Amino acid sequence: MLDADFFRRWMTATAASVDREAERLTALDSPIGDADHGSNLQRGFRAVDTALEKEAPGTPGAVLILAGRQLISTVGGASGPLYGTLLRRTGKALGDAPEVGEQEFADALRAGVEAVMQLGGAAPGDKTMIDALLPAVEALGESFAAARTAAEQGAEATTPLQARKGRASYLGERSIGHQDPGATSASLLIAGLVEAAGE
Ligand code: ADP
Ligand code: MG
Repeated sequence: MLDADFFRRWMTATAASVDREAERLTALDSPIGDADHGSNLQRGFRAVDTALEKEAPGTPGAVLILAGRQLISTVGGASGPLYGTLLRRTGKALGDAPEVGEQEFADALRAGVEAVMQLGGAAPGDKTMIDALLPAVEALGESFAAARTAAEQGAEATTPLQARKGRASYLGERSIGHQDPGATSASLLIAGLVEAAGE
């Protein structure tokens, strides 16, 4: 079973890896964006860390709802509302149970990813975070490690795609040949699950 502590560790692990990889995320956002993805998420996840320390929410759902709210209010750019929606919707789906099962979490994360698709209008193959998140959700029924691999492969598979959503889509065919920054950060988020589980 996964308790509030697990979800806190998930957010803390993600904040740490976003910190470590911020320059790389911004570098990926340079040829096909405006070179702010790393700094956007760094600011957002630092705020998540601070808020979780201060408020110490007691249920999995409350941890994710608080984290999502922080991302929405502190991350400029498209990715803030999208990641914020992902975590808030996932948290809502978990309700106020003190512990949740892995399958319940997989179902909740799927609802979160669907909410992101609805908000941003992106489908798989549009070269966005969805290309890492959706395969991860599908592999989550198997294990956290399988979800991490699926997300990493999904992020790498965005390189040959032409962007159809977000800033990168303005470049048309010139967006081809670059890995999507949002799909890359999404793979960090999913990798955080493996760390939180101590696997
Ligand atoms: P901005 O594009 O506003 O500068 P960021 O640089 O923080 O925002 O985030 C860019 C990332 O957001 C992209 O790499 C992509 O993965 C994701 N993204 C942008 N628009 C959408 C969308 N409509 N749906 C899903 N993801 C999107
Ligand atoms: Mg950007």
